[in-house]
Amino acid sequence: MLVVMRQDASEAEIRGVVAAVEARGYKGQPIPGARRTAICITGNKGALEAPAFESLPGVLEVIPVTHAYKLVSREVKAENSIVSIGGVKVGGPELVVVAGPCAVETREQTLTVARALKKAGAHLLRGGAFKPRTSRYSCQGLGEEGLRILAEARAETGLPVVTEAVDERALDLVEEHADAIQIGARNMQNFSLLKRAGQARKPVVLKRGLSATLEEFLMAAEYILSEGNYDLVLCERGVRTFSDFSRNTLDLAVVPAVKSLSHLPILVDPSHGTGRRDKVAPLSRAAVAVGADGLMIEVHHDPNSALSDGPQSITPPMFEALMGELGQIAPVIGRRL
Ligand code: PEP
Ligand code: MN
Repeated sequence: MLVVMRQDASEAEIRGVVAAVEARGYKGQPIPGARRTAICITGNKGALEAPAFESLPGVLEVIPVTHAYKLVSREVKAENSIVSIGGVKVGGPELVVVAGPCAVETREQTLTVARALKKAGAHLLRGGAFKPRTSRYSCQGLGEEGLRILAEARAETGLPVVTEAVDERALDLVEEHADAIQIGARNMQNFSLLKRAGQARKPVVLKRGLSATLEEFLMAAEYILSEGNYDLVLCERGVRTFSDFSRNTLDLAVVPAVKSLSHLPILVDPSHGTGRRDKVAPLSRAAVAVGADGLMIEVHHDPNSALSDGPQSITPPMFEALMGELGQIAPVIGRRL
């Protein structure tokens, strides 16, 4: 249930409603909006008594929330959320491009790619220091050393860093060193990790699970917001289908679906979504056209020798050409790059 406060409600009145919610054993989370604050009530099993809240000072109305996910829902917050990652705003009029290698391999490799990306106009640097690999024998990442390399690349280029935390130990380190914490597709339903990410003081990028429905995706996002971290960016990265021409099927239709159900920003990752270098640019163009708030793209200066995801990594010149194309598409749909 959502308790919508009047526009002129005071801080004390908002606190009074939260206290009344908590006195009944539920959780009350204020959601500040552009014009008024709403308090989302969670933790109740059955229907709530609306009149008990309607009569509290400062309350405008009490409305039921019909979806199983609450805090991520547009019912609870009508306007788009804008998430700041190291000062780069995701979800506003500017498209945001997160780019970098799949894995941080060496200092030289990461700095080479980061410099090229900065020159080409990327906004955020990605690169896995902790890699969730299907094979135990594939590169697992450099761990904390990788985080230090990313921090050095940020210091030189000014690009804030987004990197994955595969478990709670990694999350502590990523929270300390990076600007945003990525939760990967394989961990989308790792509920203890989601709760820990919800307690983090850094924004989170949550990737859609390999076979997750839209509802499961939004329910996973709800775990993070329910712990108090509202700085969440979703990322579509393709789902498993019978398609035999690409690694995954990039579900671009999920972008307008997310936009209608949720206020959260959403990125599209055409690299994991297709698994093929030659498909990254066309699907990036389509993602921008369909209304994504940005892209996450794997770039490597020497993809044929990449330790991870070389076949889907584009080169810096390809990235630069793509940025030029995206810059032309953006204004057509009222965005900027
Ligand atoms: C990644 O971004 O490198 C990654 C492992 O992605 P996903 O979790 O989407 O497979
Ligand atoms: Mn990858």
